[in-house]
Amino acid sequence: MKLRVAVIVVAAGRGTRFSSDGDRQPKQYRDLVGRPVVSRTLDAFLSHPGIADVLAVIHPDDTALYDQAVTAIDPVGRNKLRQAVFGGNTRQGSVRNGLLALKNDNIHQVLIHDAARPFVSHAVIDNVLEKLAEGRLAVLPAVPVVDTLKRLGEVTHRLETVDRTGLWAAQTPQGFDYPTVLEGHEKAYQAGRTDFTDDTAIAEWQGVAVSLAEGDPDNFKITSRSDLDRAKKRISMTDRYNSGLAELGDVRMGTGYDVHAFEDGDAVILGGIQIAHDKRLKGHSDADVVLHAITDAILGAIGDGDIGAHFPPSDPAWKGASSDRFLADAVRRVTDRGGRLAHLDVTIVCEAPKIGPHREAMRQSIAGICELPVSRVSVKATTSERLGFTGRREGIAALAGATVRLPFNDEDCT
Ligand code: MG
Repeated sequence: MKLRVAVIVVAAGRGTRFSSDGDRQPKQYRDLVGRPVVSRTLDAFLSHPGIADVLAVIHPDDTALYDQAVTAIDPVGRNKLRQAVFGGNTRQGSVRNGLLALKNDNIHQVLIHDAARPFVSHAVIDNVLEKLAEGRLAVLPAVPVVDTLKRLGEVTHRLETVDRTGLWAAQTPQGFDYPTVLEGHEKAYQAGRTDFTDDTAIAEWQGVAVSLAEGDPDNFKITSRSDLDRAKKRISMTDRYNSGLAELGDVRMGTGYDVHAFEDGDAVILGGIQIAHDKRLKGHSDADVVLHAITDAILGAIGDGDIGAHFPPSDPAWKGASSDRFLADAVRRVTDRGGRLAHLDVTIVCEAPKIGPHREAMRQSIAGICELPVSRVSVKATTSERLGFTGRREGIAALAGATVRLPFNDEDCT
């Protein structure tokens, strides 16, 4: 028989530690790179194949915030999301309400998770589920305490070092056999105990052995402003990039082509990377033929002239200029239109220098200038079989394609 696993996401807290900036919005509804924290937390469980039901426990005052957060979750797993229930006066009371709401649903095991831990990975969920599958009744994901701990002596008022051997920092989701955890909560409720800060503490109190599972330092809880800043940094650039991209339906493509001749020198600059060579490329700027072709491709995609129109070679301001400025300017022209660069593809034509060893560095460099994920930048190279000017090693040519996504704008249709 397959065991039915439900998840309770506890989202009823008021986050008083967070309200020093005057904004009373609870931390689990704060914006985390375009989406409320709790929508990311819910998605982590809704997307896990071993989870059948996900139930949020919310504060009655937060109904509108919660409904808004639900609109941001991935549609694929949404059918697993149950109607939210209201929490109690304490975290413990909120969990109990969640457990009671699952009473008639044939749930075998339950995971209880803090809404303010949006970075719970499938690996951590699997670690907890594995222990439950082995027959453990209560499972705590945790990480070893790595910081040196100090205690201020009550009498001596002196700092003393605490031995951290055997100390673990508790995380969630904590996993339980459902009847066991429900019984523990009911016993605690009947005993008038409302002060348990997590659910494995109730298990310990009821005499149930708690097993450790491997947690993850990235599965941290957002409790302060600096935690939220850390969380924002933690969201990968790809996530950041993809957010909102689907709404930009006007997909445009542009091409660019550029050539620079060799002259005496000791290095060329291609894609923003300096490559040792027995020649250099001749030009008014740094002669980065790769960035010039890409710049023209982007300008082509938005119908905004070409590199020479915006940065005339006759203008002494651009003498020796680093070409990343030209490229960054083209990207800015895209974002000024409310658009985003979606992909770049460039082909470098030369006999020498060899491009292969520098391909990844070039991708990184171009991605950095354009603020694109590296996966959206392609760099290719070919020789021209010793034919033509590139074949005679007189210079380097580059061809580029750029895909740009813009919002549909009626004013553009004149
Ligand atoms: Mg050029």
